[in-house]
Amino acid sequence: NDELFKNVISHAKEYGFVFQSSEIYDGLSAVYDYGQLGAELKNNIKTYWWKAMVQMHENIVGIDSAIFMHPKIWKASGHVDGFNDPMIDNKDSKKRYRADQLLEDKIAKYEKDGKTEKAAKLQTDMDDALKAEDLPRLKALIEEHEIACPVSGTKNWTDVRQFNLMFSTQFGAMADGSEVVYLRPETAQGIFVNFLNVQKTGRMKIPFGIAQIGKAFRNEVIARQFIMRMREFEQMEMQFFVRPGEDKKWFEYWKEARLKWHKALGTPAEKYRYHDHVKLAHYANAATDIEFEFPFGFKEVEGIHSRTDFDLSQHQEFSGKKMQYFDAELDENGKPYGNYVPYVIETSIGLDRMFLLTMINALEEEDLSTPEKQDSRTLLRLHPALAPIKAAIFPLTKKDGLPEKAREVMDALKFDFNCIYEEKDAIGKRYRRQDAVGTPFCITVDHQTLEDNTVTIRHRDTMEQQRIEIKDLHWTIESKVSW
Ligand code: ATP
Repeated sequence: NDELFKNVISHAKEYGFVFQSSEIYDGLSAVYDYGQLGAELKNNIKTYWWKAMVQMHENIVGIDSAIFMHPKIWKASGHVDGFNDPMIDNKDSKKRYRADQLLEDKIAKYEKDGKTEKAAKLQTDMDDALKAEDLPRLKALIEEHEIACPVSGTKNWTDVRQFNLMFSTQFGAMADGSEVVYLRPETAQGIFVNFLNVQKTGRMKIPFGIAQIGKAFRNEVIARQFIMRMREFEQMEMQFFVRPGEDKKWFEYWKEARLKWHKALGTPAEKYRYHDHVKLAHYANAATDIEFEFPFGFKEVEGIHSRTDFDLSQHQEFSGKKMQYFDAELDENGKPYGNYVPYVIETSIGLDRMFLLTMINALEEEDLSTPEKQDSRTLLRLHPALAPIKAAIFPLTKKDGLPEKAREVMDALKFDFNCIYEEKDAIGKRYRRQDAVGTPFCITVDHQTLEDNTVTIRHRDTMEQQRIEIKDLHWTIESKVSW
């Protein structure tokens, strides 16, 4: 599993999916750049989400709110006071850790060693301490369970402190601290504060949703696991506004709908599981995570939270503006539901984690050995709709007018599909290169093409080759790569 993860990271770099940010300056920790193929894959994931959430739901609309928001918003949302991680330093190595992560690693270790009771006990103790924000208790747990620093190996720890994860900066030219603004740590608040704007201008009727894709920033204490935990990342969030009392029903609806979305990409069902939260945040009345089995264990990809009327009520209080909706529909007594602050179900997925999961799922070293010959190929078995390149177009050779003909084929397809033209190297090598980046189709123009306008089309997964007419290329590709 470690091996698979390492392969994914090096594959992502080698083929232009993901690069370390500022690499020539030795990198910037927990910040990454998406390369030429990564940007395409990421866009395709976004499109899949946007279509499923916004286009397919007549009662969901999408917005794009600013990263900078009024600083009071983060007071109202609870982030200024409560968006903290408990941090601890090892005095010898001078390395900084998240206290809860050290404990979680210990729990995983206990589980691995079959000490399930010990693991469960520590889990409960840790959850209690986190909930009560009891920092000395967290430190005591680290000591009781004799957790050593992974770098120095010593147990010489500082006290546990709270560390706020929001990045701040200054607005305008004021340096007196009065103009502090934050980089948003989640996109959701941009939706809440625009709730009435969208409801009124879009004439939305409850239940309805507002979706958004955008960057979020968190000053994570420690960076781990490649693009799993970044300081700058992207979220795809949707807030669904419902009548109070109907929140449980919609929570169940979205829980199911979101898992279906994941599975529709062909990911094996057993790779996913729900993790229902037993201990809830103060504003939530139900919460579950959709977890995926990464090479380093089941981890959260998406959260579905029933947030009650917490956020809208907070903004009503802090802004002094009404955040109410007038519901003209009649209840069972024939009376209009009237004015209320809606309840909210949130679905929140990390785009980068989804990207990582997609790469992990798709990367495969396929054994092609025959009794005569050992052989294998590296394959990125992406869903065709997610593939960065849909078709690669190759002239068999660089002469006899084949490149010109291949260019014609390319020009006829490139408006509708992301295509690539390549004439360098032997054809087999060109095929393998496209296999490695997940291109579902390779189209080869040869001498016969000049006579009868047919080409060979090679299918990535089966390596099967067919002879088809050029005029049939468009729908052949379309039928496989469209949503
Ligand atoms: P975690 O417990 O892993 O830190 P979280 O519970 O803080 O995640 P949420 O606040 O619920 O995460 O954010 C919703 C989603 O955003 C997560 O499911 C995850 O996919 C993504 N996400 C959160 N933090 C990061 C990060 N630092 N890097 C990449 N993706 C992130």
